[in-house]
Amino acid sequence: MTLDVVHDLIAPKRDGAELDEPVLRAFVTGVVDGSIPPYQASALLMAIVLRGFSAAETLALARAMVDSGKVLDLSALGRPVLDKHSSGGVGDKVTLVLAPLVAACGALFGKMSGRGLGHTGGTLDKLESIPGFRVQLSQGDFLRQIERIGVAVVSQSERLVPADRVLYALRDVTGTVENPGLIAASIMAKKVASGTSALVLDLTVGSGALCATAADARALGELCRAIGRDYGRDVSCVYTSMEAPLGRAVGNRLEVEEAWEVLTGGGPADVREVVLALAAVLLQLSDLGLDEHAARARADEALAGGRAAEWFERWVAVQGGRFKPGEFHRLADDAVVAPRAGFVAAVDARAVGRAAQASGAGRGRADDEIDFAAGVIVDAPPGTAVAAGDPLARVFSRRRDTRAAAAALLGTAFTIADERPPERAVVLATEPASARDAGTAP
Ligand code: URA
Repeated sequence: MTLDVVHDLIAPKRDGAELDEPVLRAFVTGVVDGSIPPYQASALLMAIVLRGFSAAETLALARAMVDSGKVLDLSALGRPVLDKHSSGGVGDKVTLVLAPLVAACGALFGKMSGRGLGHTGGTLDKLESIPGFRVQLSQGDFLRQIERIGVAVVSQSERLVPADRVLYALRDVTGTVENPGLIAASIMAKKVASGTSALVLDLTVGSGALCATAADARALGELCRAIGRDYGRDVSCVYTSMEAPLGRAVGNRLEVEEAWEVLTGGGPADVREVVLALAAVLLQLSDLGLDEHAARARADEALAGGRAAEWFERWVAVQGGRFKPGEFHRLADDAVVAPRAGFVAAVDARAVGRAAQASGAGRGRADDEIDFAAGVIVDAPPGTAVAAGDPLARVFSRRRDTRAAAAALLGTAFTIADERPPERAVVLATEPASARDAGTAP
């Protein structure tokens, strides 16, 4: 259709109308071919954030975004390929453990991943902190590697969902990321186009996440499931807390080291818990014929027995990475200490994420260079009893001035109280694909 951008698109949405599929398709086409300039696209995005975007609009946008590029066909593998996506977090190294774990259990795992932006990290940056690790694989190599070792994690192909690259970059700089329909369409268009058969979504809730409340996360989960259903893809949701960072390490190489600790039987319990919850859900979506109990038992066994760690080493080596446990030297650090005695009542994930970003571990803009060795270690997670002067966290950075600036931010993350806070679960709820219309989200 020929689109009058102001009269057909921006003005109706500004006035609260619902946009239909042909109009949204014309919008996506115009954004990709450049005939709709960024200022008009941004005006529409802001109108969507302020006036809302219905489930029907979300589905129509997702379809148009999928059709804006190529769609991978993984059917040659003859088996379901499992995938995972997180709606974003701080210290989230789950994929580094989950991917080899699922493969070690006998299922196929294939993921196209993204880079970190703002206070949240990205899996590609974490993988690239391993010297030599290649994230750019051709479609053929992606397929062959999944066939050969059961796991591949690569960067999103330029040819898939070009509309998302344009729209996400605009949303990022115009304060228009936070709309559930826009987020769902962006996530699911990429997942559908990457050709994987079944998906578990780790929907994070809390200060470090895109969704501040459980209700927001549930709404996002429902929109994603609806898109998955439309394309015949199983989508399970696991809701997890992102009030505090996941685990203790925040920063690319620091997180790889912590993932290795979890793979070898140690590491923080919250990381292990999220990984095992996601693995159990994914394995039920595979062709291994496992029910919930058997899936969890198989994942527990593969992690505890060291097979997931062996798979990690194999996977990293096949993608060119040279990973030697313990061979990483930490940068100089500044510690943040407890101002008084008490209990750590809260560690604000967003503030820790911003401190890690300031240390050099994250980007402010998409083209910023990052320092793989920079980041934060939280020494006193929520619930820890501390005396005045005890270390709460350390920030690692090459430069003294960035270290000091990051440490100042890090200090704002901690709340010390007189009482020990109640223990909080990290896995809040699970909604398996088979129960998608009668789920038990938080
Ligand atoms: N992650 C995505 O891939 N897209 C969004 O819009 C937000 C988070």
